[in-house]
Amino acid sequence: MTETQPRSRTIMVVGGGIAGITAAVEAAEAGHDVVLLEKTPTLGGRVAQMNRYFPKLCHPTCGLEINYQRIKKSKRISVFTMSTVAAVKGSVGAYTVTVKTAPRFVDTKCTACGDCAKVAETEVSDPFNYGLSKVKAAYLPHAMAFPMRYVVAPEVAGTAEGEKIKAACPVGAIDLADQGGSFELEVGAIIWATGWQPYAAGNLTAYRYSELPNVITNVEMERLASPDGPTKGKIVRPSDGAAPKTVALIQCAGSRDLNHLAYCSRICCLASMKHAAYVREQYADARVDVYYIDLRAHDKLESFVQRLKRDPQVHFVKSKPARIEPGEGGNPVVCGENTLTREVYANAYDLVVLATGMQPSAAEGVTGLDDYGFVYAEGPSIGAGVAAAPLDVSMSVQSATAAACKAIQLVS
Ligand SMILES: Cc1cc2nc3c(=O)[nH]c(=O)nc-3n(C[C@H](O)[C@H](O)[C@H](O)COP(=O)(O)OP(=O)(O)OC[C@H]3O[C@@H](n4cnc5c(N)ncnc54)[C@H](O)[C@@H]3O)c2cc1C
Repeated sequence: MTETQPRSRTIMVVGGGIAGITAAVEAAEAGHDVVLLEKTPTLGGRVAQMNRYFPKLCHPTCGLEINYQRIKKSKRISVFTMSTVAAVKGSVGAYTVTVKTAPRFVDTKCTACGDCAKVAETEVSDPFNYGLSKVKAAYLPHAMAFPMRYVVAPEVAGTAEGEKIKAACPVGAIDLADQGGSFELEVGAIIWATGWQPYAAGNLTAYRYSELPNVITNVEMERLASPDGPTKGKIVRPSDGAAPKTVALIQCAGSRDLNHLAYCSRICCLASMKHAAYVREQYADARVDVYYIDLRAHDKLESFVQRLKRDPQVHFVKSKPARIEPGEGGNPVVCGENTLTREVYANAYDLVVLATGMQPSAAEGVTGLDDYGFVYAEGPSIGAGVAAAPLDVSMSVQSATAAACKAIQLVS
């Protein structure tokens, strides 16, 4: 072997959302060993947290389950959940990656029987529901989790309750001494598929997200509408559990704004069309007002916007609201100026949804970031899905397949 020949043909994929899963199965099915790292307890990423997803408004399991089957059938994919990259050394063909694993306190013997959760008393914030609800300190991340394995929250490790949880497990799968750990891997190429996080709505002080309970974000709306969400799929006001009769959807909440996210996340307009559809399906007499700068529906999805435009209960207001004020009965009041009619408005709603954008997740060891924090598709840096650009699911899948091809090329 010469110095220019790669030493490892193994491909590492960092991030187990739809993009990372796709890159992993594509590379494995082309004959490469793949290591897939995911920092949370389960694969699926943000797609798993959706109620339904366009273009066909499928349940997330439609797209994810088939890929989980591909992973299960593959002998070439090693999945490490609760794992992140701590350091990367070397170069293409010969990277040494230090992987750090957080404790799960539950090993592979877990049969997901749920006996541990039955005896747990402490409740912790549920990250799957963006903190809108709590879960027991021994919990299954969600109903369709892959791997289907419980997690024990660190809050109860080393406590009497932790021992009770451990004793309840009929197969001895709970290890409260689990400290996590770190290990090194030699890989030839790294695909960064670390995805996105919702832009922090609390930064939008004029919209008072942190103060007004009935101002929520678009990702929270997905969980409220989900049958396995905090309200079992019923869209209700967080303040009092009442059914909303009037809903405002505010587009570009922080997006295309030099003070927040300077770019367009491409999917928010369509996500809001989905949210208008969710509300209208549940409440025949509800009114939805969409406040927009301009509606950006890419390619074939224009027909989805037109469908909502035909609904007489859905109204479009060309305006970027200036602020939201507290109103009577917990109703947020959306204030601004309609840029078509010049009318100055102050409209009260039962519920306001902020369409916040997608911000790339930071990751240790990644190189080649652009000014916004997305991974450049240049040189040895390989980004897939929203780690590379704001994309919808189908574009993320295409980008992940391209990333797998590039990684294969680099190690071959
Ligand atoms: C409100 C809203 C609604 C949407 N609805 C739709 C829709 O209906 N249809 C559609 O096509 N698109 C929709 N999208 C876009 C869709 O969510 C993205 O296209 C999709 O999530 C991209 O998948 P991904 O794998 O790139 O990223 P993600 O889904 O974010 O997955 C990334 C994964 O990487 C993991 N990770 C992050 N950092 C690390 C790290 N350092 N180490 C290890 N793992 C890490 C994360 O835990 C996560 O599991 C919507 C977006 C929003 C904001």
